[in-house]
Amino acid sequence: MSKFWSPFVKDLVPYVPGEQPKIANLVKLNTNENPYGPSPKAIAAMQAEVGESLRLYPDPNSDRLKHAVADYYGVQPSQVFVGNGSDEVLAHAFYGLFQHGRPLLFPDVTYSFYPVYCGLYGIPFEAMPLDEQFQIRVEDYERPNGGIIFPNPNAPTGCLLPLEAIEKLLQANPDSVVVVDEAYIDFGGVSAICLVDRYPNLLVTQTLSKSRSLAGLRVGLAVGHADLIEALERIKNSFNSYPLDRMAIVGAAAAFEDKVYFDATCRKVIDSREHLIAELGKLGFEVLPSAANFIFARHPQKDAAGIAAGLREQGVIVRHFKQERIAQFLRITIGTPEQNQALLDALATR
Ligand code: PMP
Repeated sequence: MSKFWSPFVKDLVPYVPGEQPKIANLVKLNTNENPYGPSPKAIAAMQAEVGESLRLYPDPNSDRLKHAVADYYGVQPSQVFVGNGSDEVLAHAFYGLFQHGRPLLFPDVTYSFYPVYCGLYGIPFEAMPLDEQFQIRVEDYERPNGGIIFPNPNAPTGCLLPLEAIEKLLQANPDSVVVVDEAYIDFGGVSAICLVDRYPNLLVTQTLSKSRSLAGLRVGLAVGHADLIEALERIKNSFNSYPLDRMAIVGAAAAFEDKVYFDATCRKVIDSREHLIAELGKLGFEVLPSAANFIFARHPQKDAAGIAAGLREQGVIVRHFKQERIAQFLRITIGTPEQNQALLDALATR
């Protein structure tokens, strides 16, 4: 705190990112990164970009990447927006597409960045409790609102909302924008991007941090009606007209083009998830159904915060949230089979 801070900054409650530990050799299962590296083609594309051309600004429109995404999903490049991580894409969507006079609706529990953006932009919100099974209750979103946002699968629960339920929600809210945050969609869900041509109020966001293993590159995207995309472009050009650097543009485009590598790594993560869920069950854990690259697990007799602290001493880090409704759960990122086994071995000793 300083006397130079504006009153606005004094009241701002920022997001707290998951820990990025400085200690080597930890089994890092806390921030949902992909345990496998990015596509070798993406790495080669970025290496080829390093050189004299870096003195030049990148393409402010990131056309190469927009075309790669458009080709992948069968949409027009004018329906694609790209930014510096999906966090930045979401920030622009909050600013540009939600009607600040009416409350934004999102689930309670969900991605904890949403209330932070609301604080940043002065957007009122109402958080709608999940049902007993930790699922989103679609009926709760059939009321006047200034927009709707939820991750699919939800975070940190991992639970998936089927496309039919999303369509129901879109039809019930023709006058507000529905943002589906698909950070984890590639690990078992079907993208709502197939609905964007039918619903002009739908914006789908995705990230290259998870299924395409490029968290370090910071690239995210949105797909929707060209009019929604234009709003995001206007904000971007008033904020940072070059959000993606030259390496990010070519690396992310190459990652989208390498479908074979993408499919193979997603498959490995999904198979490991199912194996881990079965093994955790043998240790007495209850695990919510997950369509993500993480699971949400609790032990009926053991304290989750205590387990997380103990695991850390054993060199394994997982995520624990203090929020009351989920305080009994651990969010565990799916690692390699060896990392998952290290987790299971550590848990078996507790
Ligand atoms: N949405 C959700 C639901 C997430 O969990 C994350 C990752 N923390 C993001 C968006 C942001 O991902 P990124 O900024 O790395 O694209």
